[in-house]
Amino acid sequence: MTNDPLRWVRQDIRDIVPYQAKVYPEGVKVDANENPFPWPQRYVERLQQELAFYPFTRYPDGEAKELRQALSEYTGRNAAEILVSNGSDEAIQLVLLTFGGPGLATVVSNPTFVMYSMATRYMGGNVIDVPLNEEGNTFRLDVQGLLAAAAREEARVIIICNPNNPTGNCFAEEDILAVVRGTDKIVIVDEAYYEFAGKSLMGRLDEFPNMVIMRTFSKAFGLAGLRVGYTVASAEIINEIHKVRQPFNVNAFSQRAATIAIEERTAFEAQVKEVLAERETLCAELGRFAWQVFATDANYIFLRLPGSTKEEQVRRAAEIHQGLMDRGVLVRKLGGGPGLDGTLRVTVGRPEENRKLLAALGDLADPSTGGWR
Ligand SMILES: *Cc1c(COP(=O)(O)O)cnc(C)c1O
Repeated sequence: MTNDPLRWVRQDIRDIVPYQAKVYPEGVKVDANENPFPWPQRYVERLQQELAFYPFTRYPDGEAKELRQALSEYTGRNAAEILVSNGSDEAIQLVLLTFGGPGLATVVSNPTFVMYSMATRYMGGNVIDVPLNEEGNTFRLDVQGLLAAAAREEARVIIICNPNNPTGNCFAEEDILAVVRGTDKIVIVDEAYYEFAGKSLMGRLDEFPNMVIMRTFSKAFGLAGLRVGYTVASAEIINEIHKVRQPFNVNAFSQRAATIAIEERTAFEAQVKEVLAERETLCAELGRFAWQVFATDANYIFLRLPGSTKEEQVRRAAEIHQGLMDRGVLVRKLGGGPGLDGTLRVTVGRPEENRKLLAALGDLADPSTGGWR
């Protein structure tokens, strides 16, 4: 008898290519869209006090009442309409557990955040891709295509990432609302980068009972390491999602840290302002290379390298990615999907980090051709 326990692994799980996150403690890490600044001084001091006095020996509040109350004030929604999770990665999972599953489908618009497809697949569902339309230096939703996909019997959840990762742009609000209005299936609007874009559909929730908004503390609020996200929808939808989450899905420290982050938000808002100012400089500088620099509403920039063939673009992107790594700068190399060949995504870093990135690029690329010196 053979003894190969792996043959009992579900075939669709075996087929999944795992998500690979990079640890890069020494260099300039501009690959994961994190807030590049250290925590504000007062915020650090308040958290240090918590460590000494908070009852961490006890289980956390499974209902996260205090954090949901803080989020209620921040979002203008009722606490009963808010569910917190271990990052919004968990929120995506929870919504798909509630509404999706084997034989059911999630509608996404690639290129977009890969976790939507990954979570759909490991939950046994199928992905229906309605690709974005590339128009000039931005991307547009295919509203008719999305509605046709949503109308399919097996479709349950449509996910719109706004601003979109990795392309950076916000979609036209009327396009998103045309999708939400045109289907009665669940439409998730992932607003992970809301604080950078300043645009939100939070104020429209009452009009659309099928709309679910997700946000995270991982980006503007700088808590990526603490894993806190939240989901806002009608109290009825939120009640259903509560049934599939672990009772203590967000640990006590992260709950306190997120609550205090809301209280200290003016300090984080100042960091966001600085990132946005840096972004303008960086976009302009990147424009000196003969690359396609896409419009962005977020804290990252989507770039496509020139080339007369796809293969050439892919090769150049790989070379620049490696060349930057050799010079201590980690950016995200994308690929493997339509529109992603030969592209890179660069997070806006601190001023000195952006200067290092530009110096390394100047060292690598010939601005006139996008090729090598
Ligand atoms: C980073 C990111 C998330 C994940 O956030 P976590 O809260 O850290 O899990 C969700 N959606 C998008 C589009 C992101 O870019």
